[in-house]
Amino acid sequence: MNLYALLTRHFPKDPRAPCMILPDGRVWTYGDIERASGRIANLIASLGLRPGDRVAAQVEKSAEALVLYLACLRAGMVFLPLNPAYQRHELEYFLGDAQPGLFVCRPQMRTLADEVAAKAGVAHVLELDDAGHGSLVDAAAPHADAFRTVARQDSDLAAILYTSGTTGRSKGAMLTHGNLGANAKTLHAYWHFRKGDVLLHMLPIFHVHGLFVACHTSLLNGSAMFWEPKFDAKQAMSLLPQATVMMGVPTYYVRLLLEPGFTRETCRSVRLFVSGSAPLLRETFDEFRTRTGHTILERYGMTEGGMFTSNPYDGERRGGTVGFPLPGTEVRIVMQSGIHSDGAGDAPQEVPLGDTAVKPGEIGGIQVRGANVFVGYWRMPEKTQEEFTADGFFRTGDMGSWDKDGYIVISGRSKDLIITGGLNVYPKEIEELIDALPGVAESAVIGLPHPDFGEAVTAVVVRQKNAAGEALSEAGIIAAVKAEFANFKVPKRVFLVDDLPRNAMGKVQKNLLRDEYSGK
Ligand code: ATP
Ligand code: MG
Repeated sequence: MNLYALLTRHFPKDPRAPCMILPDGRVWTYGDIERASGRIANLIASLGLRPGDRVAAQVEKSAEALVLYLACLRAGMVFLPLNPAYQRHELEYFLGDAQPGLFVCRPQMRTLADEVAAKAGVAHVLELDDAGHGSLVDAAAPHADAFRTVARQDSDLAAILYTSGTTGRSKGAMLTHGNLGANAKTLHAYWHFRKGDVLLHMLPIFHVHGLFVACHTSLLNGSAMFWEPKFDAKQAMSLLPQATVMMGVPTYYVRLLLEPGFTRETCRSVRLFVSGSAPLLRETFDEFRTRTGHTILERYGMTEGGMFTSNPYDGERRGGTVGFPLPGTEVRIVMQSGIHSDGAGDAPQEVPLGDTAVKPGEIGGIQVRGANVFVGYWRMPEKTQEEFTADGFFRTGDMGSWDKDGYIVISGRSKDLIITGGLNVYPKEIEELIDALPGVAESAVIGLPHPDFGEAVTAVVVRQKNAAGEALSEAGIIAAVKAEFANFKVPKRVFLVDDLPRNAMGKVQKNLLRDEYSGK
């Protein structure tokens, strides 16, 4: 069914109930979003766009931006959100690739948007500024509030979401109404959403975490969100006492902990803190618990299907793990050879690593299957075929293992696996040891091309801004790893730096590190 129709089933009876609470205190009620999305859906239909056409939006987060997404669902359009940071090169790629019928841009990008749109054959360009004004809203104003949500099958596309581009060029993941609805329902139940919840929403909405995981659970709950344009630690601290749920990337939690005024008292009304999109350091997990009494719930997923695993709501949330497969999602971990399929079908050696109780700790490629898993990469049939096994599992490209109790531990991406002298080194193992050394804030372990070994283990280490950080040395770190690990895992070089390159979702960009340090 149409995802919007599914969501509205759970909208509050009273249309005056709050849906979004803006930083200036203005409130968008559920009635407001129904009417405003109705007007925009009518506008889109009046432009001649047909169900299945794409609508691209490169806008800042505003209430109207979310309404635009909902309007697209209602009108049966395929929504394509784009990171506002993208410039000409990226826009040309995305618009040329997706060929939307309508492109909604920010006014400051209008000239560029027109040029790129003309080139890509996009018929309509409208504007939405950072405050939620612009020709989109103006053109929608005369249209009727009422709109009959277009019927959609579960298999109809709802969105094309581009991956974060952490490992290379972003791919457009095609997600259906059924995919998004399935994951929304699962998460809503698994995380015990309940009447009266208030979600602190500070995430960007061009990405799966902010747009789908956070918004869908809240809308499906018919409850309110504090709708903030971006993460700000001080603002988070002022809103948390009125919130019950917060979702964030690990950096949000790191930044909250840097605030001396962030205490147990700040979190008194919160029932759930969720983290994902990048690994949460054990140190952050532990410190958060000590400081606030809350145990952050870490979950794992990706653009290609939303969430796959989660730590439990009621049971033990285990630091350094991403919990169990979510109901409705099958997860298996297969032997590492064969993760990179050569496109010639399944490699025969790609076998499940067996019973979770039998071989805990063994690292392999993570594969998933379920109603939430996407239907393929937009206009990339070969790539799609390569990433799915014959029995319908998606190869996530992440590596991991089951711990002894069936919790999943992510050990990194297969693309980041280091093969040195023919032996596998999992960066995370070394990173965890280095991170625990006094004076180390965090680290990234990468493989750099090496004439003898193929790849040389290399560590890029961020020092803490204190005496212990200053005392760190390359030799000292190498010696510390050597004391614990086999020689082939010991970094050949260590670079001490002030920070690591991260993208909008707080992910460390190891490809940039590899470029920067190779040959040094
Ligand atoms: P691209 O596919 O373009 O290289 P990306 O994989 O970073 O980019 P996303 O779909 O935004 O794009 O991110 C999904 C990835 O994020 C997962 O494959 C995984 O590597 C990582 N990830 C998400 N949650 C977690 C987590 N809790 N712990 C560790 N890694 C995580
Ligand atoms: Mg990816």
